[in-house]
Amino acid sequence: MPTVFDIYEILSDAYGYQGWWPLFSRRGSPGFNSRGYRLFPSRIPLAIEDRIEISTGAILTQNTSWKNVEKALGNLQADGILSAEAIADSSVEKLEALIRPSGYFRQKARRLKGVIHILFGKPGSNGIDVPERDFLLSVSGIGPETADSILLYAYNYPSFIADMYTRRFYARLAGEQKIGKYEHVKSIFENSLPREAGLYGEYHALIVAHGKKHCSSRPVCRGCPCFSFCRAPDKG
Ligand code: SF4
Repeated sequence: MPTVFDIYEILSDAYGYQGWWPLFSRRGSPGFNSRGYRLFPSRIPLAIEDRIEISTGAILTQNTSWKNVEKALGNLQADGILSAEAIADSSVEKLEALIRPSGYFRQKARRLKGVIHILFGKPGSNGIDVPERDFLLSVSGIGPETADSILLYAYNYPSFIADMYTRRFYARLAGEQKIGKYEHVKSIFENSLPREAGLYGEYHALIVAHGKKHCSSRPVCRGCPCFSFCRAPDKG
């Protein structure tokens, strides 16, 4: 069985560089493609606006596809509402209308206002200091996946995301009958990899690409780059 790092390399060879987290407002600018994904690993520093956009996207992407989030981000950008001040000044009703394509828009509008204010708008919150994970988890509307997405992509802090794609993939590779709990699978990856945000971010994006192409709820095992060593009982 390859190591956790070997599997990263196998996925990287199979799917290529993913360039997450996509930055909608940087679409087509140097180093980014037309959807805002990075074209190559780079150390382009994140501006506060980028952190706000990533945190906004992390909330909007709850229970929906990224395509829907792109529409919502497009509406927010067109109305100039991708800053902490603008989100604070905007009425809930207006936010609801703008983010409607992302679904659960009533809940998400309130969540967005609260989270962006806490991270970037409160006196003393400079938007640069990395928030504590436990603090993020105490904020209404932020669960482990959203907290880790914000830490990893908005703050470049190495906190591995153990979303459903990851937990299902890991369980299948290991031949486990049950999908592991979030914190357990997160710790397996974190204890097996160097603590590097760039590596964690790219690995997560690769697992999502793999989950979409092969290892979804109904696995498409033919052509899977992990087929030879996967121990899934339902491997087809
Ligand atoms: S062989 Fe099938 S179950 Fe195993 S990782 Fe690949 S797609 Fe998933």
